[in-house]
Amino acid sequence: DKRKQKNVLILMSDTGGGHRASAEAIKATFELEYGDKYKVHVVDLWKEHTPWPFNQVPRLYSFFVKHEILWKFAFYSTAPKIVHQSEMRATSLFISREVANGLAKYQPDVIVSVHPLMQHVPLRVLRLRGLLDKIPFTTIITDLGTCHPTWFHQLVTACFCPTEEVAKRALEAGLRRSQIRVHGLPIRPSFATFSRSKDELLKELEMDKDLPAVLLVGGGEGMGPVEQTARALGESLYDANTGKALGQLVVVCGRNKGLVKKLQKIQWNIPVKINGFVTNMSEWMAACDCIITKAGPGTIAEALIRGLPMVLFDFIAGQEVGNVSFVVDNGAGAFCDKPKVISKIIADWFGASSSKLKEMTEKCKMLGQPDAVFKIVHDLDDMIRNKHMYQDHLKIKYRGLI
Ligand code: UDP
Repeated sequence: DKRKQKNVLILMSDTGGGHRASAEAIKATFELEYGDKYKVHVVDLWKEHTPWPFNQVPRLYSFFVKHEILWKFAFYSTAPKIVHQSEMRATSLFISREVANGLAKYQPDVIVSVHPLMQHVPLRVLRLRGLLDKIPFTTIITDLGTCHPTWFHQLVTACFCPTEEVAKRALEAGLRRSQIRVHGLPIRPSFATFSRSKDELLKELEMDKDLPAVLLVGGGEGMGPVEQTARALGESLYDANTGKALGQLVVVCGRNKGLVKKLQKIQWNIPVKINGFVTNMSEWMAACDCIITKAGPGTIAEALIRGLPMVLFDFIAGQEVGNVSFVVDNGAGAFCDKPKVISKIIADWFGASSSKLKEMTEKCKMLGQPDAVFKIVHDLDDMIRNKHMYQDHLKIKYRGLI
């Protein structure tokens, strides 16, 4: 019965940092758990429902991130509360009418924001229209440590924090304990329901069945020193004296097509698999023994679930810094941005320090939270069905500017 179908509106923007991955994970899990009961809309509010120049935010983001200095400036200069609130207020006047149209179009029963810039304007619209007690508004934070203050808003029904570190920041930002939930970062449900054996996968993916394997990934965009690191591994995992390989390499270049071409031209001494954007990350991870990656929250959370110790070789200034300390402080891996040194670390993990690799594998598995996405979706379902039980936060005197 379509009339009974409820709408879930997920607000995201394709600005890296795992926002799309988390949005898709939530959508897939709603379908898996509740079938037709919910219709999930994943919407880029900036791109689809705001006028120029705000609809350029995703494109600007790619530009900023590729020019690190500019990004650092934008990230840190907007961090003080006063600056971002007055900035948001100015922005909000321009676009709130458009956002209101967007909300009217989807008629959401719950709103889920997975983006740091999607709290203030939609909540202002809900507040001005007297809808705060009718439509639960929730935030799912996709940073593991150092999140930008625009993630937090006191008027949310719930703020889903991936780690205790982020929960601490939410409290400092004035949220109540009852608004904060710590289930972990939502990851595609295929990571939780996965049950293939490694042997089977090695065969299917045409990998060497006897050699340990390292996975090299530069996030969705193929960022970081992927080529140099691959070349260095080609040397460190090859024993010139015996002419034998000590390990094998799988590279995932994401959407970086130029990188695929460059790597394909290289003469390798060890078994190497070169991929563009893969849709079976879960399988490649299950077939490998460790990973080298940029500090993206999605990839880190996935690697933990699969028990892959990691070397982080790059991070986006500001938002991904906390992801690095999360991994290093929890003994799940190391940070190193020097390709030669990284290649030696991996050779060591596959050789003399294999017991250390094993230990770290166990640590990673303990930190992994494959069921986080299910817990979050169950909570959202409960908030929709029992709205009246989630009204405490509306009693506070909200003093924010917008
Ligand atoms: N990913 C993928 N195929 C690829 C490259 C990446 O499915 O070829 C996925 C990866 O598994 C993760 C997401 O894309 O779920 C990347 O998110 P992350 O937070 O790590 O970094 P981002 O690229 O969003 O900054």
